[in-house]
Amino acid sequence: MQTSLTFTQNADLPVILDRLERSYGRATRHKRDAMRQLIFMVVAQGAAPSVGLAVFDRLQAVYPSWARLRDAEPRDLEALFIGLPDREKKARAIPEILKAIEAEHGELDLDHLAEMSTDAARIWLAALPGVSLSVASAVLAFSTLERPSLAVDRENVRPMRRLGLCPQGTPLSAVPREVMEGAPADWSGAQMASLSHGLGRLAATVCQRGKPACQRCPLMTLCPSSGHVAEVLAFPSAEARQAWAAKRSA
Ligand code: SF4
Repeated sequence: MQTSLTFTQNADLPVILDRLERSYGRATRHKRDAMRQLIFMVVAQGAAPSVGLAVFDRLQAVYPSWARLRDAEPRDLEALFIGLPDREKKARAIPEILKAIEAEHGELDLDHLAEMSTDAARIWLAALPGVSLSVASAVLAFSTLERPSLAVDRENVRPMRRLGLCPQGTPLSAVPREVMEGAPADWSGAQMASLSHGLGRLAATVCQRGKPACQRCPLMTLCPSSGHVAEVLAFPSAEARQAWAAKRSA
Protein backbone atom coordinates (compact mmCIF):
# COMPACT_ATOMS: atom_id res chain seq x y z
CA MET A 1 0.00 0.00 0.00
CA GLN A 2 2.83 2.36 0.88
CA THR A 3 4.34 1.70 -2.57
CA SER A 4 1.11 2.70 -4.24
CA LEU A 5 0.82 5.90 -2.20
CA THR A 6 4.37 6.91 -3.06
CA PHE A 7 3.77 6.13 -6.73
CA THR A 8 0.72 8.38 -6.96
CA GLN A 9 2.21 11.37 -5.13
CA ASN A 10 2.24 14.61 -7.05
CA ALA A 11 5.62 16.29 -6.64
CA ASP A 12 4.08 19.66 -7.54
CA LEU A 13 1.71 19.76 -4.57
CA PRO A 14 4.29 20.91 -1.96
CA VAL A 15 5.41 23.64 -4.38
CA ILE A 16 1.79 24.63 -5.05
CA LEU A 17 1.11 24.88 -1.31
CA ASP A 18 4.25 26.91 -0.71
CA ARG A 19 3.34 29.43 -3.43
CA LEU A 20 -0.26 29.66 -2.29
CA GLU A 21 0.80 30.33 1.31
CA ARG A 22 3.21 33.03 0.14
CA SER A 23 0.48 34.68 -1.93
CA TYR A 24 -2.61 34.21 0.26
CA GLY A 25 -1.32 33.27 3.70
CA ARG A 26 -2.26 30.24 5.73
CA ALA A 27 -5.80 29.19 6.53
CA THR A 28 -7.19 30.78 9.66
CA ARG A 29 -8.29 28.07 12.04
CA HIS A 30 -10.49 29.12 14.90
CA LYS A 31 -10.01 25.92 16.93
CA ARG A 32 -13.70 25.38 17.39
CA ASP A 33 -14.79 21.91 18.42
CA ALA A 34 -16.43 19.88 15.67
CA MET A 35 -20.01 20.75 16.68
CA ARG A 36 -19.37 24.49 16.76
CA GLN A 37 -17.46 24.27 13.49
CA LEU A 38 -20.30 22.35 11.83
CA ILE A 39 -22.97 24.85 12.85
CA PHE A 40 -20.68 27.73 11.93
CA MET A 41 -20.04 26.26 8.47
CA VAL A 42 -23.76 25.77 7.82
CA VAL A 43 -24.53 29.32 8.97
CA ALA A 44 -21.65 30.99 7.14
CA GLN A 45 -21.76 29.03 3.88
CA GLY A 46 -21.84 31.41 0.93
CA ALA A 47 -21.57 34.55 3.10
CA ALA A 48 -18.67 36.98 3.44
CA PRO A 49 -16.48 35.76 6.34
CA SER A 50 -17.19 38.82 8.50
CA VAL A 51 -20.96 38.45 8.02
CA GLY A 52 -20.87 34.72 8.75
CA LEU A 53 -18.88 35.28 11.95
CA ALA A 54 -21.15 38.10 13.12
CA VAL A 55 -24.31 36.02 12.59
CA PHE A 56 -22.77 32.98 14.29
CA ASP A 57 -21.83 35.09 17.33
CA ARG A 58 -25.40 36.45 17.43
CA LEU A 59 -26.78 32.91 17.22
CA GLN A 60 -24.64 31.75 20.13
CA ALA A 61 -25.66 34.71 22.25
CA VAL A 62 -29.37 34.03 21.72
CA TYR A 63 -29.08 30.22 21.91
CA PRO A 64 -26.32 29.46 24.43
CA SER A 65 -26.85 25.68 24.40
CA TRP A 66 -27.26 23.12 21.62
CA ALA A 67 -30.48 21.92 23.24
CA ARG A 68 -32.00 25.39 22.96
CA LEU A 69 -30.88 25.69 19.36
CA ARG A 70 -32.31 22.23 18.59
CA ASP A 71 -35.69 23.44 19.85
CA ALA A 72 -35.53 26.82 18.09
CA GLU A 73 -38.35 27.87 15.77
CA PRO A 74 -37.07 28.23 12.18
CA ARG A 75 -38.86 31.59 11.83
CA ASP A 76 -36.92 32.93 14.85
CA LEU A 77 -33.63 31.72 13.40
CA GLU A 78 -34.46 33.22 10.03
CA ALA A 79 -34.90 36.60 11.70
CA LEU A 80 -31.37 36.27 13.13
CA PHE A 81 -29.93 35.29 9.76
CA ILE A 82 -30.45 38.62 8.01
CA GLY A 83 -27.62 39.17 5.53
CA LEU A 84 -27.02 35.45 4.90
CA PRO A 85 -27.76 33.68 1.62
CA ASP A 86 -30.35 30.87 1.86
CA ARG A 87 -31.37 32.01 5.33
CA GLU A 88 -34.76 30.30 5.23
CA LYS A 89 -33.14 27.00 4.24
CA LYS A 90 -30.46 27.36 6.93
CA ALA A 91 -33.05 28.24 9.57
CA ARG A 92 -34.89 25.00 8.83
CA ALA A 93 -31.74 22.90 8.53
CA ILE A 94 -29.97 23.73 11.79
CA PRO A 95 -32.56 22.29 14.24
CA GLU A 96 -32.89 19.26 11.92
CA ILE A 97 -29.13 18.69 11.98
CA LEU A 98 -29.06 18.83 15.79
CA LYS A 99 -32.01 16.45 16.06
CA ALA A 100 -30.32 14.03 13.65
CA ILE A 101 -27.04 14.12 15.62
CA GLU A 102 -28.92 13.37 18.84
CA ALA A 103 -30.90 10.57 17.20
CA GLU A 104 -27.81 8.94 15.66
CA HIS A 105 -25.28 9.50 18.43
CA GLY A 106 -27.48 9.80 21.52
CA GLU A 107 -25.80 13.07 22.58
CA LEU A 108 -25.71 16.64 21.34
CA ASP A 109 -22.01 16.57 20.55
CA LEU A 110 -19.64 15.16 17.94
CA ASP A 111 -17.02 13.75 20.29
CA HIS A 112 -17.31 10.30 18.72
CA LEU A 113 -15.78 11.59 15.47
CA ALA A 114 -12.38 11.64 17.19
CA GLU A 115 -12.51 7.83 17.32
CA MET A 116 -13.39 7.44 13.65
CA SER A 117 -11.16 7.39 10.57
CA THR A 118 -11.23 10.58 8.51
CA ASP A 119 -13.15 8.90 5.68
CA ALA A 120 -15.73 7.37 8.06
CA ALA A 121 -16.16 10.69 9.90
CA ARG A 122 -16.66 12.55 6.61
CA ILE A 123 -19.33 10.08 5.49
CA TRP A 124 -21.07 10.27 8.89
CA LEU A 125 -21.21 14.07 8.77
CA ALA A 126 -22.32 14.21 5.13
CA ALA A 127 -25.26 11.92 5.95
CA LEU A 128 -26.72 14.63 8.21
CA PRO A 129 -29.57 16.61 6.63
CA GLY A 130 -28.31 19.52 4.53
CA VAL A 131 -24.60 18.80 5.16
CA SER A 132 -22.56 18.49 1.96
CA LEU A 133 -19.32 16.56 1.56
CA SER A 134 -17.54 19.90 1.25
CA VAL A 135 -18.89 21.11 4.61
CA ALA A 136 -18.10 17.73 6.20
CA SER A 137 -14.49 17.96 4.97
CA ALA A 138 -14.16 21.53 6.21
CA VAL A 139 -15.44 20.54 9.66
CA LEU A 140 -12.80 17.83 9.90
CA ALA A 141 -10.00 20.10 8.67
CA PHE A 142 -10.82 23.36 10.45
CA SER A 143 -12.08 22.12 13.83
CA THR A 144 -9.98 20.87 16.75
CA LEU A 145 -10.07 17.45 15.06
CA GLU A 146 -7.43 18.87 12.64
CA ARG A 147 -7.80 16.02 10.16
CA PRO A 148 -5.96 16.18 6.82
CA SER A 149 -9.23 16.53 4.93
CA LEU A 150 -9.51 18.64 1.79
CA ALA A 151 -12.58 20.88 1.55
CA VAL A 152 -13.59 21.17 -2.11
CA ASP A 153 -16.43 23.33 -3.39
CA ARG A 154 -17.65 24.57 -6.76
CA GLU A 155 -15.15 27.43 -6.73
CA ASN A 156 -11.85 26.02 -5.49
CA VAL A 157 -12.33 22.90 -7.62
CA ARG A 158 -11.79 25.03 -10.76
CA PRO A 159 -8.03 25.60 -10.27
CA MET A 160 -7.65 21.99 -9.10
CA ARG A 161 -9.04 20.83 -12.43
CA ARG A 162 -7.12 23.36 -14.49
CA LEU A 163 -3.90 22.41 -12.69
CA GLY A 164 -4.57 18.77 -13.53
CA LEU A 165 -4.64 17.72 -9.85
CA CYS A 166 -7.39 15.23 -10.69
CA PRO A 167 -8.11 13.23 -13.86
CA GLN A 168 -10.31 14.79 -16.52
CA GLY A 169 -13.99 14.16 -15.83
CA THR A 170 -13.60 13.55 -12.08
CA PRO A 171 -16.93 14.44 -10.41
CA LEU A 172 -16.85 17.03 -7.63
CA SER A 173 -17.49 14.39 -4.96
CA ALA A 174 -14.41 12.38 -6.00
CA VAL A 175 -11.98 15.32 -6.31
CA PRO A 176 -10.90 15.43 -2.61
CA ARG A 177 -9.77 11.81 -2.68
CA GLU A 178 -7.94 12.25 -6.00
CA VAL A 179 -6.07 15.33 -4.78
CA MET A 180 -5.33 13.96 -1.31
CA GLU A 181 -3.89 10.75 -2.75
CA GLY A 182 -1.34 12.91 -4.53
CA ALA A 183 -0.36 14.78 -1.35
CA PRO A 184 2.59 13.82 0.86
CA ALA A 185 1.45 11.17 3.33
CA ASP A 186 2.64 13.26 6.29
CA TRP A 187 0.72 16.43 5.45
CA SER A 188 -1.12 17.78 8.47
CA GLY A 189 -4.67 19.02 8.72
CA ALA A 190 -3.29 22.57 8.79
CA GLN A 191 -1.49 22.06 5.47
CA MET A 192 -4.57 20.56 3.84
CA ALA A 193 -6.66 23.45 5.17
CA SER A 194 -4.15 25.95 3.73
CA LEU A 195 -4.27 24.21 0.33
CA SER A 196 -8.06 24.47 0.31
CA HIS A 197 -7.94 28.10 1.47
CA GLY A 198 -5.24 29.10 -1.04
CA LEU A 199 -7.03 27.49 -3.98
CA GLY A 200 -10.22 29.26 -2.93
CA ARG A 201 -8.44 32.63 -2.95
CA LEU A 202 -6.83 31.76 -6.30
CA ALA A 203 -10.25 30.91 -7.75
CA ALA A 204 -11.69 34.20 -6.51
CA THR A 205 -8.86 36.43 -7.73
CA VAL A 206 -7.17 35.04 -10.84
CA CYS A 207 -8.53 31.61 -11.76
CA GLN A 208 -12.05 32.84 -12.34
CA ARG A 209 -14.75 31.26 -14.44
CA GLY A 210 -14.28 31.88 -18.13
CA LYS A 211 -10.93 33.38 -18.94
CA PRO A 212 -8.44 33.13 -16.07
CA ALA A 213 -5.77 35.78 -15.46
CA CYS A 214 -2.86 33.35 -15.79
CA GLN A 215 -0.25 36.10 -16.15
CA ARG A 216 -0.94 37.08 -12.54
CA CYS A 217 -1.16 33.53 -11.20
CA PRO A 218 1.53 32.34 -8.76
CA LEU A 219 1.06 28.82 -10.14
CA MET A 220 1.44 29.68 -13.83
CA THR A 221 4.71 27.79 -14.27
CA LEU A 222 3.10 24.67 -12.80
CA CYS A 223 -0.17 24.76 -14.72
CA PRO A 224 -0.81 22.83 -17.95
CA SER A 225 -3.78 25.10 -18.70
CA SER A 226 -1.78 28.32 -18.62
CA GLY A 227 -1.03 28.30 -22.34
CA HIS A 228 -4.71 28.22 -23.24
CA VAL A 229 -6.02 31.39 -21.66
CA ALA A 230 -8.11 32.38 -24.67
CA GLU A 231 -10.37 29.40 -24.12
CA VAL A 232 -13.02 28.87 -21.49
CA LEU A 233 -11.21 26.20 -19.54
CA ALA A 234 -12.60 23.32 -17.56
CA PHE A 235 -9.86 20.68 -17.69
CA PRO A 236 -6.57 20.73 -19.58
CA SER A 237 -7.07 18.48 -22.61
CA ALA A 238 -5.04 15.28 -23.01
CA GLU A 239 -3.02 17.07 -25.71
CA ALA A 240 -2.34 20.02 -23.41
CA ARG A 241 -1.20 17.68 -20.63
CA GLN A 242 1.11 15.76 -22.99
CA ALA A 243 2.58 18.96 -24.41
CA TRP A 244 3.05 20.27 -20.88
CA ALA A 245 4.76 17.09 -19.67
CA ALA A 246 7.10 17.14 -22.69
CA LYS A 247 7.93 20.81 -22.11
CA ARG A 248 8.74 20.22 -18.43
CA SER A 249 10.92 17.18 -19.07
CA ALA A 250 12.85 18.89 -21.90
S1 SF4 B 1 -2.25 29.34 -14.51
FE1 SF4 B 1 -4.29 30.08 -15.13
S2 SF4 B 1 -5.58 28.26 -15.38
FE2 SF4 B 1 -3.75 27.67 -14.19
S3 SF4 B 1 -4.35 27.85 -12.04
FE3 SF4 B 1 -3.39 29.79 -12.61
S4 SF4 B 1 -5.08 31.12 -13.30
FE4 SF4 B 1 -5.86 29.01 -13.26
